[in-house]
Amino acid sequence: MSYMRILILIACFSFFLSSAGCNGSGNNRQIGSASGPEYVIAIHGGAGTLSRERMSQEQEREYLDKLNEALQAGEAILKNGGTSLQAICAAIIIMEDSPLFNAGKGAVFTNRKQVELDASVMTGNTLSAGAIAGVTDIRNPILGAIAVMENSPHVMLAGKGASDFAAEQGLEIVDNSYFHTRRRLDDVTRQIEQEKYGTVGAVALDSYGNLAAGTSTGGMSNKKYGRIGDSPIIGAGNYANNNTCAVSATGHGEFFIRQVVAYDISAKMEYARLSLEEAAGKVIYEKLTDAGGTGGVVAVDRFGNVSMPFNTSGMYRGYIKSTGEKKIAIFRE
Ligand code: ASP
Repeated sequence: MSYMRILILIACFSFFLSSAGCNGSGNNRQIGSASGPEYVIAIHGGAGTLSRERMSQEQEREYLDKLNEALQAGEAILKNGGTSLQAICAAIIIMEDSPLFNAGKGAVFTNRKQVELDASVMTGNTLSAGAIAGVTDIRNPILGAIAVMENSPHVMLAGKGASDFAAEQGLEIVDNSYFHTRRRLDDVTRQIEQEKYGTVGAVALDSYGNLAAGTSTGGMSNKKYGRIGDSPIIGAGNYANNNTCAVSATGHGEFFIRQVVAYDISAKMEYARLSLEEAAGKVIYEKLTDAGGTGGVVAVDRFGNVSMPFNTSGMYRGYIKSTGEKKIAIFRE
């Protein structure tokens, strides 16, 4: 995608947010981030059995560049005084629009060779949340989730109701074929293990001390049509609470739902007084792993600490802090 297209997207997106009453100004609460960074954004582009041997250098570069582009889009917003919600959404839109990831364009196919998308968002200062599930035609599902949060009395809308609502909200509606790519069609036909996951997500802390989390996905390749994963389920694939942390998950959704992964990380911080690193590590490396689940999370706490544990061989991931600290990686190190 050209640089110009990104700028246009961000401008349109900011307009949508302000018209959706989501510019963050009314909710800003200066809780202060002590001596930590002023802002942080962390993203993921899915976890799975990723191996260096099976990925060409060119493919690796493509992924790293796209992750970098998404991080930079989010950071530009945070640097200019934007909110964590605006930042995570800018980053997620870039990944939804890229055929590299299993969200928006390039999402995996169901067993009926159609694309069905799930997404959710949550803001840590108000505990507001929005989600859409099983939609087939909202070009940027994350915007659908924001619209539900901002402009409806509900938390989740599914299927045709979600699409009709998104259309009423002025969001772009596309034919299901817009999401299709040859690579994902081959995956569903051949069930390639390497391509199992690929959900996208982002978490951020803004300079007002507010956390936000967002997750967007096509789900799991060859899923039964109608199946809903963890990504749109608040507390499973996504959670944000200013008292603790913001979490976005990727992995085998059924396990993340049963283990209530995202909320469990927050709860361990709130009730057991664990640090973000301890809480996220315990949930991913012990609870999820012991249950047989695979995947990981990106998480940031209210002090700007970042944790990105995963129990697969790789996870597309990265973060950037206002201090200049930055990391982008795919494989286990
Ligand atoms: N968690 C997603 C789901 O189960 C899949 C993924 O993370 O790639 O729907």
